[in-house]
Amino acid sequence: MNADGTHWNPDMETLGREELEALQLERLKETLQRCARSPFYQAWFRDAGFEPGGFESLEDIRGLPCMEKDTLRGGDPTRFLTVPLDDVVRIHSSSGTTGQATVIFHTARDIEAWAELVARCMYMVGVRRSDVFQNMMGYGLFTGGLGFHYAAEKIGALVIPAGSGNSRRQIQLMRDFHTTVIHIIPSYALYLLEVFGELGVDPRGGTDLRIAFIGAEPHTEGLRRRVEEAYGVSAYNSYGLSEMCGPGVAFECPEQEGMHVWEDSFLMEVLDPLTLEPVEEGKEGELVFTSLNREGMPLLRYRTRDLASVYRGECPCGRVHRRISRIKGRSDDMFIVKGVNVFPMQVEKVLLGVLGVGSNYQIVLDTVGAMDEMRVLVEVAGELWHGEVRELNRLRRRIMEELRQEVLVTPLVELVEPGSLPAGEGKAVRVVDKREHARHARGD
Ligand code: ADP
Ligand code: ZN
Repeated sequence: MNADGTHWNPDMETLGREELEALQLERLKETLQRCARSPFYQAWFRDAGFEPGGFESLEDIRGLPCMEKDTLRGGDPTRFLTVPLDDVVRIHSSSGTTGQATVIFHTARDIEAWAELVARCMYMVGVRRSDVFQNMMGYGLFTGGLGFHYAAEKIGALVIPAGSGNSRRQIQLMRDFHTTVIHIIPSYALYLLEVFGELGVDPRGGTDLRIAFIGAEPHTEGLRRRVEEAYGVSAYNSYGLSEMCGPGVAFECPEQEGMHVWEDSFLMEVLDPLTLEPVEEGKEGELVFTSLNREGMPLLRYRTRDLASVYRGECPCGRVHRRISRIKGRSDDMFIVKGVNVFPMQVEKVLLGVLGVGSNYQIVLDTVGAMDEMRVLVEVAGELWHGEVRELNRLRRRIMEELRQEVLVTPLVELVEPGSLPAGEGKAVRVVDKREHARHARGD
């Protein structure tokens, strides 16, 4: 790649809008041809009466139904492959998915293209070979770790694959190796400030940090500014999802005014989640993506459930790739706590399997200090409520342990009197989210 000081990939980053759309069409046609080799897509096309060869414009994609997470779940995941399994070199899966994981297969070319995209993001806001990059995201199946790792090495930065957690060591590493760039979950960035405080270190004067990449969970502009001020960095929002590789789908440029979607690699639609019709330009809708440069497992019209809107007008940085707003949240009821995705139904599944649990429960999310706190209020079966305290404690510990195993975060569990939780006639309100970004999203 011939970086020019401003663009990591000048060919792709300085395209005009027409050229970009012509490239999208070309890549979409290739993708559809490739898909026609997979058993899944053969049936998908046939059932939809969709003719991949008779494709003339980008809008024709709307002749296909949307794919969802459920489309990917269950069955043999290799049915999506458009290459022989031997050509696959890696799998990733989504972060919060336990049980039936949605698996994404990558060929060597896919991994390379992904690293290129993330390198483009990092370079765009000033990461260079002279930087020391500490990646504080989980490594492994989660895409936040390896996704950034390969990109930073590509740029030639010194990479510290610190992984997540172990706060005191993170700070020690930053100081020992003069870390200049971090990649960190936003809520954890706030928490880490408390640990800095305990150590008596001021992140502004006591480190060489200058850039932070924050993403993987919804967060407010206020949180970004707090991170920037406390750490003395410029913080950039990074958006992605494992189904579209991971990080590197959309990213803020130096303007910090919306995230550019790398439209040479992803075709974006913004749809009304109910009607699946395109929303008016600038209006909020669900982001739906089609991969345009994926070899092993292309996905067509994949519904992210993420709600955002598209910025109008051109970005002063000159890139014509459309910009999206912060992600407001998911259109379904999933929530993210400490960077981990949790479905209320996972909680319910656990609760209903434990003897002594009553008929109602509620999940309360709050911010305590700077960290997410998840409380699960559980109504206890009547006889137990009036029984021994020891028994109640045992029940509480058991629920906590089983929840931890299922959702991968440890919630606080409060046993409450039978009938004490609100229960309406309509659908139950399972999640009460009092956290700042949720209040913000609701506009209260
Ligand atoms: P899962 O698919 O189980 O959610 P992923 O690790 O693939 O696991 O997470 C992708 C999701 O994380 C996105 O669909 C989105 O909801 C959320 N996400 C990622 N980056 C951001 C961001 N910058 N802002 C808000 N939400 C984000
Ligand atoms: Zn820009």
